Amino acid sequence: MTGGATDIKSLDLPGIERALAALGQPRFRVRQLVRWLYARGVAGFDEMTDLPGALRSELAERFTLGRLSLSAREVSADGTRKYLWELPDKTTVESVGIPSGDRLTVCFSTQAGCAMGCTFCATGQDGLTRSLLPGEMVDQVLGAAADMNARVSNAVAMGQGEPFANYDATLGALRFMNSPDGLEIGARHLTVSTCGLLPGIRRFSAEPEQFTLAVSLHSAVQSTRDVLMPGVARYPLDQLREALATYGVRTGRRPTLEFALVAGSNDSDSELKALIAFCRGMLCHVNLIPVNPVTGSDARRPDDARVRAFASALTSAGIECTIRTERGVDISAACGQLRQRHRA
Ligand code: SAH
Ligand code: SF4
Repeated sequence: MTGGATDIKSLDLPGIERALAALGQPRFRVRQLVRWLYARGVAGFDEMTDLPGALRSELAERFTLGRLSLSAREVSADGTRKYLWELPDKTTVESVGIPSGDRLTVCFSTQAGCAMGCTFCATGQDGLTRSLLPGEMVDQVLGAAADMNARVSNAVAMGQGEPFANYDATLGALRFMNSPDGLEIGARHLTVSTCGLLPGIRRFSAEPEQFTLAVSLHSAVQSTRDVLMPGVARYPLDQLREALATYGVRTGRRPTLEFALVAGSNDSDSELKALIAFCRGMLCHVNLIPVNPVTGSDARRPDDARVRAFASALTSAGIECTIRTERGVDISAACGQLRQRHRA
């Protein structure tokens, strides 16, 4: 790798526009460069054959071109593939490719580690290593597409990390994924899952694209949620509900509420009642997820009958709901586990 200190993967689209303008380049070079980076995914500036040689050298002087390298991969009997990528500074992140019919969904990480400390989550256990650059997120999706030799139809920021704790980079990445010069994934097929950082939800509601929002609720009872998700205890549930209702009104979209069922914690009748009250009168879709047991956490899932009882009570109350079907159960069940296992 040659040249300057800045990784070109740190730039979002306006950043690339500024960098090329500073080099006195015409506007059409922006699209050429973005295509080399995020449609073709080249390894170096010298491969960008439709850029003039002088520009390739100038780019190589000013920028490095960071690449992900594959450090582990697991392939499930159902076709799901998990990837552990090593970043240029040797930190590692996970992503998952999930084929389904003619669709391919890639779940990517937005941070290495996470500062939010949710008790049932493998990623939350060791805190945050660092936030990822926009290009490091896009490259996870490109890497999975190349490995699976398929077009990616959906990408979800549901891997490691809290996307809204890395808001600008995440939005920058979504825009490259959405771009006709990048991965060309429709905005509605790009989903961000947040643990409920309200400033992020409010900003997201006002973005011009139709990106999809999912929020990890996990309990509509404040005291339970504070225990399960200590990192968001400062954002009260009534304000979360208001922010979600505003998202629905502003965008006309139905946010998904993720609810990981943990036996003896959030699976009681009173929890169910609170969940129904939270959802009533608001556009939303509840996704029930029997919690995946992870090392270092004693969270266990309720039995199937309890999960189905939750689902049917929600449906009877007129609340749209699904039970998440598990994929890749024979590999590392939950995000963060592959990374956890490969640590010395
Ligand atoms: N930080 C974001 C996105 C990454 S986590 C968030 O929390 O929303 C993606 C989803 O996986 C979240 O809904 C999270 O709560 C859930 N999750 C984490 N650990 C889990 C586990 N062990 N079992 C089931 N779901 C889990
Ligand atoms: Fe972070 Fe999401 Fe895990 Fe919570 S569930 S620790 S917010 S990655």
